Parts: sequence; C-alpha cells; structure tokens
Amino acid sequence: MTHASPRIVIVGAGHAGGSAAAFLRQFGHAGSIVVIGTEPHLPYQRPPLSKAYLKGVATVDSLLLRPAAYYADRDVELVTGCTVTTIDATQRLVVTDDGRRLPYDVLILATGSTARRLAVPGSELGGVHHLRDIADADALRRHMAPGHRLAIIGGGYVGLEAAASARLLGAEAVIIEREPRLLARVAAAPLAEFFAAYHRAHGVEIITGADVVRLEGRQGNVDAVILGDGRRIDCDAVLVGIGGQACDALALSAGIACDNGVVVDENARTDDPHIYAIGDMTRRPLPLDDDRRHRLESVPNAIEQARRAANSILDLPQPAHELPWFWSDQYDLKLQIAGLPFDTDAIVVRGDPAVAKFAVYHLRGGQVRAVEAVNSIPDFMGGKALIASGRQVDPARLADTTASIKALVSEVQASAQNLA
Ligand code: FAD
Repeated sequence: MTHASPRIVIVGAGHAGGSAAAFLRQFGHAGSIVVIGTEPHLPYQRPPLSKAYLKGVATVDSLLLRPAAYYADRDVELVTGCTVTTIDATQRLVVTDDGRRLPYDVLILATGSTARRLAVPGSELGGVHHLRDIADADALRRHMAPGHRLAIIGGGYVGLEAAASARLLGAEAVIIEREPRLLARVAAAPLAEFFAAYHRAHGVEIITGADVVRLEGRQGNVDAVILGDGRRIDCDAVLVGIGGQACDALALSAGIACDNGVVVDENARTDDPHIYAIGDMTRRPLPLDDDRRHRLESVPNAIEQARRAANSILDLPQPAHELPWFWSDQYDLKLQIAGLPFDTDAIVVRGDPAVAKFAVYHLRGGQVRAVEAVNSIPDFMGGKALIASGRQVDPARLADTTASIKALVSEVQASAQNLA
C-alpha cells in the first residue's frame, strides 16, 4: 500500500477482525481504524461457546479478546450492533444498515462463517438451535440440565463438544450423524472410534448412517427427529451442527472473486488491491498442501491471516508460514491437531487409546503430514516438528513408545542437518 497513513475499515468484529485491529496498532499503523460488527459484543472467542461458556463456567467478559479500554486507549473505533450492507469498491466506501457511509483506503473483510441450516421440514420449529454466537449459546444452555434430552444433528467437533457439555450438566444427549462414523470429514477412523466409545461411556447415544428427513413438534416446539428408516428420536431440543458456510455474499456482490469463500493469496489479499479478507470467510492457499486453497475454520488461522494482512498493509516483512492447527476439548480430553489429516496413505497409532493418551500420525510417502494427539502434548509438539522437517520417518519407530517422540524428532532433525 502506498498511502502513508491509510484509513482502514474492518468489516466483522470477530476473532480475525479484532486481531487485525490489534496487529495494525501493534505494528505501528498511525491512521484511523474503524471496526464494524453486527453483534452487540466486543470481539470475543467462540471456542468456549461449546465448552466452558455452554457449561456455565465462563462469563461473557472472560470471552472477550481484549477489554473495551484496549480499543479506546489505542484509538480503534469499534462500532457494534451495526452491519455493513454494501461495499462500493469504485468509490472505496462501505454503507451500513444505520445509514453510515465510511470511506476507506484499505478494507479488511472479516465476516466469518454461519452455521449451515438443515433443509428439512420442521427445521423452523422452536427449540431448534445452531451454535455460532453468544446468543445461540445462551438459548441452547436452557436445555442443558437434568430432565432435558438434546438431539444433536451432526457428529463434528461442535456437536461432540456440545454433547460432552450436555452430559456434564446432566442432560441426555443423542448424536445423529449421516456418515457411517463420527468426524467423518475431519479425522482418522481410529480417532473417531475412540471418541464414539468415550461419548457412549458417558451416556451419549450415537446413531450413525442416519438420514434426518424431518423434525416434528408440538405447539410449535420440536419434540422428535424423524429418520429416513422411520425411526423417531424423541427430544425437547435440537442442535444442528452440520458445519459452517463462508459469509462471502457481501464480497461477492462487490465483485470480489469468491469460490465458496473469498479467494485470497498467502497474505490475505483479494483480487481488489484495496481489499483484504481474513478468517473463516476466506479460501486461502496452504504451503503445506502445495498452495492448494482451503477454507480453515480455526482461531490460529484467523490470527495468522490477521497478522499477515497487517504486515502486508504496512509493508512489513512476513513471518514464516504457520502449520495449520486446531484443538477440541471434550470431558477430560484435550485433542490437538496439526497439519492436514487427509490425502495420506498410512496411519500410525502411537500410545494407547484405552488409557485416553495417544496420537494418530498421518503419513504420505513416509513423511508425517498430520498428527491428532489426545492428552499428549509431546506428540502434538513432536508431530509438528516432524511435519515441518519434511523427512521420512520409519512407521515402526513412530509407533514404538519405548523411545520418546522427542528422541525421534532429534534424530530426524540431525539426519536432515547432515544431509544439508
Ligand atoms: P467470527 O469470529 O465468526 O467473526 C465474524 C464476525 O463478523 C461476526 O461477529 C459476525 O456477526 C460479523 N459480521 C458478519 N457479517 C457482517 C457484516 N456484513 N457487517 C458487520 N459485521 C458482520 N476454532 C478453534 O481453533 N478451536 C476450537 O476449539 C473452536 N471451537 C469452536 C466452537 C464453536 C461453537 C464455534 C462457533 C467455533 C469454534 N472455532 C474453534 C472456530 C473459531 O471460533 C473461528 O474459526 C473464528 O471465530 C473465526 O474468526 P472470524 O473472525 O473469521 O469469524
């Protein structure tokens, strides 16, 4: 960007938008920053919405990325409860639903994603929930108590976390998944089997290979999920957890290239030189996957893209690319995932799922491409190092827990140095 002190407008006051404002100031941007967000809240973390916040052990204040004083002290204007309805890319201004017209030199889009809706009859009934924001979590929490039965449609991470929270609060939970197993799109079979067994042991009913054909209700409130084979699953609330969709309609209507998410380069630039896009709404290249584009819905991705956009706007050098990573908390389990657990040709399980401490390594051509570690920080850290090394690893050595993963990493790194 050539402008000495560009006026920056950020659309979306979520994890990515809030982080971008903070990085810009931290990196020395002296011009104006306006952040506009639909929700009534300051930028906050969503991960606790299916975990600590849903269980009632975290408050709204504890979710905030930064307190209000942070933005005031740094002259970041936060406009909450306000939605950008139009981007005029020719005039370089945005229009809001309350009639503001805000000019920009640089626009950062950070509108996130929305929960995918279930397209079956009855999905508009009362008691049918999604879980994307604080208001959703507040509404869902009313059913998280003894005497309630929650039907969770979708066996992905949000669904599993909500099921764990429900059980810990004494509600009954049944997970209904269309695929033959849980976490079908995102995790290896051994990991999915482990989570299914763990949830069942905590009293969660799991139905896989099930097609939801309609929801039924009484007096406007859902009371059953009906499956394709005629089965009726009684419940008094439903959580639809079937994935997210990029909020790219605003960008699309401004003529910005989108492909199920705003298409960006490695520094979050769109095809309009004055417009960046960051976070869940983007489809970004991943160096780990030969720069093929992916949509990543994760906090580390939102932060990385916010940092890279800020650096790019301020003409600062970029840090090395980060490895994609993600986490999930369920009961007393901490799952940490690094890399891309797909398009691989071998799987190595290290450790013992029976004691809830193990890792699933994904290999392609003998190289570690991803690790899914349950209650095992050394495997998560070691796995990241092995992925970054790009070296071949002996699967038998990887599976052998008599030697530490740290020792294996040192060996692999030493052999890489010898070759260099
Ligand atoms: P968001 O945080 O969704 O922010 C986008 C904001 O933009 C929203 O507030 C939205 O209202 C606003 N907006 C949209 N359109 C407009 C407009 N036109 N004008 C103004 N404002 C607008 N990630 C992990 O890494 N680990 C986890 O354990 C994890 N758990 C999760 C659990 C739940 C229940 C959910 C919902 C998400 C979880 N995630 C997790 C994902 C993570 O929270 C997201 O990847 C992250 O919030 C993305 O940040 P974002 O800023 O792109 O989007």
